[in-house]
Amino acid sequence: MDSGVSIAAEKLVELTAKYASQITVKDEEYVRAVGFSSKEMAKRVVGRVSLWLISQETNLLYCRLCTKGPFTKRGMFLHLTRMHHAEIKLLLEEEIKKEIKAVL
Ligand SMILES: [Zn+2]
Repeated sequence: MDSGVSIAAEKLVELTAKYASQITVKDEEYVRAVGFSSKEMAKRVVGRVSLWLISQETNLLYCRLCTKGPFTKRGMFLHLTRMHHAEIKLLLEEEIKKEIKAVL
């Protein structure tokens, strides 16, 4: 297991939970998490993983990992970070590995 991948994934868990919950994530938050040179990669990875995390019916958010809900944006964020931290990290690791392969 590449520790760099693991560290990057860990740093992106919270941003991914935020993005999936439809809370705005600013550019500087990506930069703070992974550095300027990896910002665009982080955005792609966060965007893809977010698709696995929530489903939306009208304006209500449901968790796709455990089908709980509906949640408000803030409630969704808290649920994801408290209940699914490890799962989100694993999904991020897989997507980051794909990005690294694409570059090599
Ligand atoms: Zn859940």
